[in-house]
Amino acid sequence: MKRWISQGKCKLCGETISKTNMTRHIATCRKSHALKKWEGRGKLRKADLFHLVVEGTHRPEYWLHLEVPTDATLQDLDGFLRDIWLECCGHLSAFTIGGTQYEFNTGGVDAMWPMLFGRGGPPKSMRTPLGSVLHTSLKFHHEYDFGTTTTLTLKVVSEYQGQAKGKSVQVLARNAPPPIVCEQCAKQATLVCAQCIYDGEGWVCDECAPDHKCGEEMMLPVVNSPRVGMCGYTGERY
Ligand SMILES: [Zn+2]
Ligand SMILES: [Zn+2]
Ligand SMILES: [Zn+2]
Ligand SMILES: [Zn+2]
Repeated sequence: MKRWISQGKCKLCGETISKTNMTRHIATCRKSHALKKWEGRGKLRKADLFHLVVEGTHRPEYWLHLEVPTDATLQDLDGFLRDIWLECCGHLSAFTIGGTQYEFNTGGVDAMWPMLFGRGGPPKSMRTPLGSVLHTSLKFHHEYDFGTTTTLTLKVVSEYQGQAKGKSVQVLARNAPPPIVCEQCAKQATLVCAQCIYDGEGWVCDECAPDHKCGEEMMLPVVNSPRVGMCGYTGERY
């Protein structure tokens, strides 16, 4: 059988490129193509930008290439990641950059984190601008939900000048949904059991779902995110 290769679409030129070649592709494609459609709010302006690559630490088949203004904050980036990949029920989240933890400011509970989780040093606020903590080739991590955690690995590919819409994050490329088959009939899986997924099982299609041993109420939709099947995650908010 031919080995499956993770691919995605470059939003600049529309071409389908393999995961391995996307970083190099975007670096050259950026010089001849500008973004046509800007997501988010705010005025289009000149800005310093970071090219970031994000992937699921334990599910690297889900990946994104992003363009983020350097004056956007970690909280802006956290909000974007929640919207596109993570948000199920308002869990806590944190970035870890060079041994320092940056967390969402939610008051009382956050102050107890060092005691609860035994992590080093007092955590800092996510209201930190990206430009003051990131630089080219730096790797860092993001965690969402400290119960059923989804961990992401982020890498700064480059820094350059261009245009930004307010502080909004722009998607430069995103993985195509990986093929997942129903374990009963080998058709495309559409649902996954929130219990069996912990054993790497429980992927079914609509037709086979009623036969699954845990019951249909355990089923979550198969979505294009590293949080597929976790907690109550049902997909993008927008
Ligand atoms: Zn391209
Ligand atoms: Zn949840
Ligand atoms: Zn099936
Ligand atoms: Zn199950």
